Amino acid sequence: MAKLEQEKGVSHPELRDEDERDISLRPQCLKEFLGQRAMKENLSVFIAAARERKESLDHLFLIGPPGLGKTTLAQVVARELGVDFKVTSAPALDKPKDLAGILTTVTEKNVFFIDEIHRLKPAIEEMLYIAMEDYELDWIIGQGPSARTIRIPIQPFTLVGATTKAGNVSSPLISRFGITCRFNFYEQEDMEAIVRRSAGILKTPVDENAVSLIAVSARGTPRVANRLLRRMRDFAQVLGDGTVTTTVVREGLKRLEIDGLGLERHDREILRVIIERYEGGPVGAETLAISVGEAVDTLEDYYEPYLIQAGLLQRTPRGRMVTNLAYKHLGLKQNAGPGQGPTLF
Ligand code: ADP
Repeated sequence: MAKLEQEKGVSHPELRDEDERDISLRPQCLKEFLGQRAMKENLSVFIAAARERKESLDHLFLIGPPGLGKTTLAQVVARELGVDFKVTSAPALDKPKDLAGILTTVTEKNVFFIDEIHRLKPAIEEMLYIAMEDYELDWIIGQGPSARTIRIPIQPFTLVGATTKAGNVSSPLISRFGITCRFNFYEQEDMEAIVRRSAGILKTPVDENAVSLIAVSARGTPRVANRLLRRMRDFAQVLGDGTVTTTVVREGLKRLEIDGLGLERHDREILRVIIERYEGGPVGAETLAISVGEAVDTLEDYYEPYLIQAGLLQRTPRGRMVTNLAYKHLGLKQNAGPGQGPTLF
């Protein structure tokens, strides 16, 4: 249900769909939530303290690209606190009454998760300020000059707000969150642990070298790792004897057009367009999005963060620019540096 409410989201649709079929892979507790060590350690202290005081946990703000585990962590936090979990996404909250409807049914200390919180409408955001701060709702009764506002008390709760675009969240909202967690792309070692764990749950035998290869090709993103693992399981089942070996993964990656850095065809296309049409950049995000046939949000939230992390792309005040490494990775020649365009010879 959680995912259904996120349909209007900006994250990679293909990846979202598959997630729904494999809820079993979602970690259930902090121990199963692999990687992001520093963030996890702090959180476990805050959770233990809130439990000890028998209070609700302070509001929690989760920032990071899609597929890194924001929804998962919110659920894990609720479970660790021993409370219920309610989920929605900002685009699903159309009118203040939609938010009021949820908040009046939230029971004490529960976790209420709002995905894509940067997309809240102003009227709803204002209602949320009071709810977060005073555990009350401002409700307008009547119309015109006789209209008046009454305050309805609600149960103390923990709001978990997640966003791929922290820059688009207003500062009054940010300032009402007591805890902020910033997700980083996962380290190779953690990605390997995630692949091993998922393979165990899916009861799929995977060779140790194949685990590394899947992990390195999954752009530091657990959701991508799980998706790749499932595809490799398919290849192993149909083309091999069911075991995911390095040979299976190499062949699978080739067929899926995923290269050594974990880039897919569309990632390479984005870099190529910047190089070939815009001489390596700078090019504005909107122009680039149109050129590659992608929504600006998807470009900015899904594709760019990993290209930047991999050192292939830079965001500059004048627009996007590819780096020397991008030319090298695509096997294209360039002049003096990025922005100079490829040479003819
Ligand atoms: P987001 O909300 O940031 O888009 P999700 O929480 O939906 O990401 O995570 C996507 C999938 O990746 C989950 O279904 C889960 O199986 C897996 N996952 C995410 N984080 C972790 C983690 N730390 N350890 C293991 N698996 C994870």
